[in-house]
Amino acid sequence: MGRPLLNRRLAEFGTTIFAEMSALAQRTGAINLGQGFPDTDGPEEIREAAVRALRDGRGNQYPPGPGVPELRQAVADHQRRFHGLTYDPDTEVLVTAGATEAIAATLLALLEPGDEVIALEPYYDSYAAGVAMAGGRRVPVTLRPHEGRFRLDLDELRAAVTPRTRLILLNTPHNPTGTVLTRDELAAIAELACERDLLVVTDEVYEHLVFDGEHLPLAGFGDRFPGLRDRVVTISSAGKTFSYTGWKVGWVTAAPALVSAVRSAKQYLTYVSAGPFQYAVAEALALPDAYFTDLRADLRHKRDILAEGLRTAGFEVYQPAGTYFITTDVAPLGEKDAYDFCRALPERCGVVAVPNSVFYDNPDAARTHVRFAFCKRAEVLTEAATRLRTAFAR
Ligand SMILES: *Cc1c(COP(=O)(O)O)cnc(C)c1O
Repeated sequence: MGRPLLNRRLAEFGTTIFAEMSALAQRTGAINLGQGFPDTDGPEEIREAAVRALRDGRGNQYPPGPGVPELRQAVADHQRRFHGLTYDPDTEVLVTAGATEAIAATLLALLEPGDEVIALEPYYDSYAAGVAMAGGRRVPVTLRPHEGRFRLDLDELRAAVTPRTRLILLNTPHNPTGTVLTRDELAAIAELACERDLLVVTDEVYEHLVFDGEHLPLAGFGDRFPGLRDRVVTISSAGKTFSYTGWKVGWVTAAPALVSAVRSAKQYLTYVSAGPFQYAVAEALALPDAYFTDLRADLRHKRDILAEGLRTAGFEVYQPAGTYFITTDVAPLGEKDAYDFCRALPERCGVVAVPNSVFYDNPDAARTHVRFAFCKRAEVLTEAATRLRTAFAR
């Protein structure tokens, strides 16, 4: 047994921070603002649509590999309705087991060992693991706070491109910083991709959760940058938009050659998944505009409750323009290390949060940054805000 069981590619990905912090929440009975899942279910009619599909025997056996036609059509209709983007449901849409599988399958399909992947740091934890499983090398470009917002340094991004760079892995709206990439930032990325012959994979699972400004899909820059359409893989999912994170229904939209490549990897990961839920998500994507505006208004209100509580407690709050998360700086509280702070927080005031350093290759950029999730019931957030104020406000 001289050799470690977990292979070298995955050795650094033992357990996630969420397992550690959720166990801590359970042990102490603290309010868990660590992990980003809602504490109430999404629309009842969508849940009933899933029940109906189960009862009617729709999707109980292997659905088609690319996804059920109803859902592929609904994804295409959604991309047109909200973003003015046109995709052929037969050749340009692929249904996956959540955005997570879409990301993994895309990286496994598109990378050769040794290829470099530029990712915006801090990044969602599955990116690093996905790149590692595909044998790629991740190259972080760090988002840094500037005038209250985490900003992408375009010169740094350009400088990170080498002859080995295969793709840029984007995420907007961005977890964990809550930043929404601007029109200028996205145009610069599109231009860079075309100029340097790069692919771009863009994770847009929070596309409907923007509170200030608007979400712009990178694929929408195809009119200005000829050739972009053949370089962009767009990924989204139902989990965050419809508050059913356990259903794990995601999708890829891209040009036919890219979808076909991703499908080659996907078919040997899960082949298919979530049959009956696919029918329910097809209905969800066609919900009236009011659903989407109400969701946004509800989460904006929740963001404001928690942000106000954190500010009053003395945290520096980087106001998120989107997503489920607020990144804060605990340095103004005299704290030196976010990890220690998060380990002690449940005992100090009955709240769980996560240190942003776990989302970095260069954790020095975030030694005192702490992430709180606000996708919880308003009364839970109000209670958390009270506890934080009582413990920290001077
Ligand atoms: C939650 C999340 C995902 C995972 O989406 P699933 O559909 O649950 O797999 C992917 N990317 C980001 C940035 C997320 O926050």
